[in-house]
Amino acid sequence: LFVAFEGGEGTGKSTQVRLLFDWLGLHEVPARITHEPGGTPPGARIRALLLDPATAGLSPRAEALLYAADRAHHVAAVVRPALDAGEVVVTDRFVDSSLAYQGAGRTLDLEEVRRLSAWATGGLVPDLTVLLDLPAEAGLARALGRAAADRLESESLDFHERVRATFRDLAAAEPGRYLVLDAARPAEAIATAVRERVAPLLSG
Ligand code: C5P
Repeated sequence: LFVAFEGGEGTGKSTQVRLLFDWLGLHEVPARITHEPGGTPPGARIRALLLDPATAGLSPRAEALLYAADRAHHVAAVVRPALDAGEVVVTDRFVDSSLAYQGAGRTLDLEEVRRLSAWATGGLVPDLTVLLDLPAEAGLARALGRAAADRLESESLDFHERVRATFRDLAAAEPGRYLVLDAARPAEAIATAVRERVAPLLSG
C-alpha cells in the first residue's frame, strides 16, 4: 500500500505522516516513512541544491528535472523495494507536488510535467493521496514561523494560490483515490480521518 501526503506550505504534512506511521507501528503493520525532495542520500544532495538561495532563479525546466531526478532515485531505491517487501510506504510529497509547484507554480505545461514524472517513477501512482488543504495565506503564515523560511517569501502569494488550486483540481479529478482534509482542523482530528480511510485498505 502506497500512501502520499500532499499540500502546500504549512499544512502539517510531516506531522500527519508521522502520526500515520506511528499508528501503523502500533498495529504492527510493517511500514516505511519517507519524503521528497531528499528521501535518499543522493536526493539529499539534490534537495540542498534546490533549496539553496544561491540557486534561486534556476530555470523552471532545470528545476523540474532535478525534482524528477530526486524522485526517480527515491522510487528506485526506497519506495519500490519497500512496496515489493510488502511494507506500507507513507511519503511526504510525491508527483502531485511537481504538478503543483513546477507545473502551475513555475507555469510549465502540466501534461509535460506529468509525462516527465511518469517516466521518472516508471508509472508508480499512490493507492491513496491525502491532500491537506489550506488557503495559501494561512499556510504561509504557519510556515514562515520556521527557521530558514525566507525562501518562501521569494514566491508570490499568487504562486502559492496556484499551487493550492492545482492540488485541489487533481483531487477533484480522481475523488476515489484522494482524501481531501481541511488542514485548519486539529491535528488529532485529521489523523483520525486518515486512519478511518487507511484501515480498510490494509485488509483489502
Ligand atoms: O515539503 P518540504 O517542506 O520538505 O519541501 C521543501 C520545499 O520544496 C517546499 O517549501 C516547496 O516550496 C519546495 N518544493 C517544490 N516542488 C516540489 C516539492 C517541494 O518547489 N515538487
